[in-house]
Amino acid sequence: MKAIRLHQTGGAEVLQLTDVTLPPPTSAQTRIRVELAGVNFIDIYHRRGQYQVPLPSGIGIEGIGSTHSGERYFWLNAMGSYAQEINLTQEALTRIPDHAPPPAALLPLLCQGLTAHYLADSAFPIARGDSALVTAAAGGVGLLLIQILKSRGAKVIAAASTKERALIAENHGADISGVYSEISEMVAESTSGHGVTVVYDSVGKDYFDRCLESLATTGMFVLYGGASGPVPPFDLMRLNPRSLAIRRPTLSAYTATSQERERRLAELLTLRAQGSLRYPDAQIFPIADARSAHHLIESRTYSGKIGLDPWKI
Ligand code: NDP
Repeated sequence: MKAIRLHQTGGAEVLQLTDVTLPPPTSAQTRIRVELAGVNFIDIYHRRGQYQVPLPSGIGIEGIGSTHSGERYFWLNAMGSYAQEINLTQEALTRIPDHAPPPAALLPLLCQGLTAHYLADSAFPIARGDSALVTAAAGGVGLLLIQILKSRGAKVIAAASTKERALIAENHGADISGVYSEISEMVAESTSGHGVTVVYDSVGKDYFDRCLESLATTGMFVLYGGASGPVPPFDLMRLNPRSLAIRRPTLSAYTATSQERERRLAELLTLRAQGSLRYPDAQIFPIADARSAHHLIESRTYSGKIGLDPWKI
């Protein structure tokens, strides 16, 4: 079967389409035929060597596929998903409900959608009347998060790198949007100077101080990524004068069981059916063009989800 393999870390050129012999599944595993693999920011970290993986290695953690008997599943955390086939344990697999949309419309609701859901539902359960600052607001997670926060009655302040990207966030329901340098004035204006209840930030290093300053007394900082680099070591006493809190969550902790994954996906599908969750289908590249998919995700020009079709060479 064909798969993308990493023999070394580096730029997109290290993504190599290779003929691979997959070992037979162990007694705990099932052989899955991959329909679509998701492309995620974490794949870039793996490719560059920022998150280390033993080489040679497969790449890609997310996918949609089926067993020989036709049962359809998705998975979120299985290295080697840029491939035509993969062996997975039952615990890693979650059944796709019959009423789910086709793969390109389902894919955005997996890593991105489930992340947006757990952020608003569990990492800091948003309540009617809360105010939230969302950074990387025009990204895939950001646009879904804005809509979930609005569906739960929050006021949303959205920040992105350009005016055009900020406007995309506003078109998805943000009450006010602007570029990162406008965060302080947007927050002051829309909270009468009090600050926001919660910050959901995945940019990390570049705007950390500005985001922290935006919080109201007893506010919560949910730091769920570091697209600009990790936040440097931090003096906890900086939280003290306003009794602030910081959470550094990860998707796997909030999707540990298939019941939890099914519950979150069911809520996302309900929002979608109600018209409260709008997003484009994933943009699908042939697996042979995985490098272009990585270039696009790194370009900061794309809003949405990117996938690979392993059967298009
Ligand atoms: P996207 O590529 O769609 O969005 C990432 C966004 O980050 C970009 O659109 C870009 O928007 C912004 N950004 C800010 N600074 C930089 C930078 N220096 N380089 C590149 N991008 C930058 O990705 P997703 O929406 O799929 O994921 C969003 C974030 O969430 C990622 O950082 C990812 O690692 C994280 N994540 C965390 C999870 C968790 O559980 N903790 C789970 C899943 C994802 P702009 O140009 O407008 O700033």
